[in-house]
Amino acid sequence: MELFTRVREGIENIQPYVPGLSDDELKEKYGLQEVIKLNANENALGPSKLALEAIAKELPFLHHYPDGSSEILRHAIANFHGVSTENVFVGNGSDDIIKLISETFLEDGDEIVVPHPSFSQYEFGAQIMRAKVVRVPLKADFTYDVDALLGAVTEQTKLLYVCSPNNPTGTILKHSELETLARRLPKHVILIVDLAYNDYTDEPTRAVEAPEILADERTVFLHTFSKLYGLAGLRVGYGIANASVWSWVNRVREPFNVNRVAQRAAVAALEDEAHRENSRHLAEQSFHFYKTACAELGLECVHSEANFILIKTSNGVETMKSMMTRGVMVRAGFAGLAEYIRVTYGTEEENRRCLEALVAALGLERVSG
Ligand SMILES: *Cc1c(COP(=O)(O)O)cnc(C)c1O
Repeated sequence: MELFTRVREGIENIQPYVPGLSDDELKEKYGLQEVIKLNANENALGPSKLALEAIAKELPFLHHYPDGSSEILRHAIANFHGVSTENVFVGNGSDDIIKLISETFLEDGDEIVVPHPSFSQYEFGAQIMRAKVVRVPLKADFTYDVDALLGAVTEQTKLLYVCSPNNPTGTILKHSELETLARRLPKHVILIVDLAYNDYTDEPTRAVEAPEILADERTVFLHTFSKLYGLAGLRVGYGIANASVWSWVNRVREPFNVNRVAQRAAVAALEDEAHRENSRHLAEQSFHFYKTACAELGLECVHSEANFILIKTSNGVETMKSMMTRGVMVRAGFAGLAEYIRVTYGTEEENRRCLEALVAALGLERVSG
């Protein structure tokens, strides 16, 4: 598209993020009364009640700017994780933090190493800074290939991302693998460990934050309030790392990057142990539900430690579209995963209806071809 002036180099190659249809758009398109939204790994239980109360209390103060340094929230997160407030950085979702880290460290000619398939925002951060993306495939069973990740590192590598449990596969990085990465990565590489779904798993071998890894200046752990805490619409995420990392990242942060309501709600959500437990429990139940159902139907699924599951069908996008016409939204079309759909766990009822839609969708495919 011709413009009155030239865009910055590299911008032409970036495709805008295209979210799936919204539930309202889907209702309109297929004339549906009701739609089940299982395509964005949102929490089927909704937000924490404590968070909702905190939000209501904050509304009369919306004419005031938020606390720019999110002091109370950072303090609460620090207590929760047993670290210092200076180790905590908060963002407008962890997407914001990924972008800020990219803006702080990356420039033309730099490289990032990412597992593949994984979360697209890592690559986005590199693209806007004109850094090169080096994809390292997961193994055939979607577990991490740590030697290959390390082997992809060059003099130009600035950031190496891992995601555990990984989106969209649900597979974990082992703690021993995290230790290997932290130990063997050259000094010029920052290791970013995205733990967006780690609250869902208690698998004993999973990667977790450990004091000795945190002491390392080059490791950043990312968390979010969007999944287990059910606050995706408010946009709050946080990072835990050595304070020296944040002293740099803080320079490119917008002054008020996390809004007042989000700060209050996140503090309250951290205190809502019951909501957290219920969310975990639902994920566990849902995994067993889909695993059993897939076994009965002769479908393959990937062992997931998150709040979603990959299910293998013949053609993921076709299955997704067919399920959509039945009012169930799942996600498909991930690079390298053409045969799969990713199903976010719903309530018990939603899971049942999702399965019905899946069965019907695959039945139709059989009839038509
Ligand atoms: C959902 C998700 C996030 C969270 O993003 P927010 O910007 O905090 O909503 C981060 N990482 C991964 C891998 C995710 O799937």
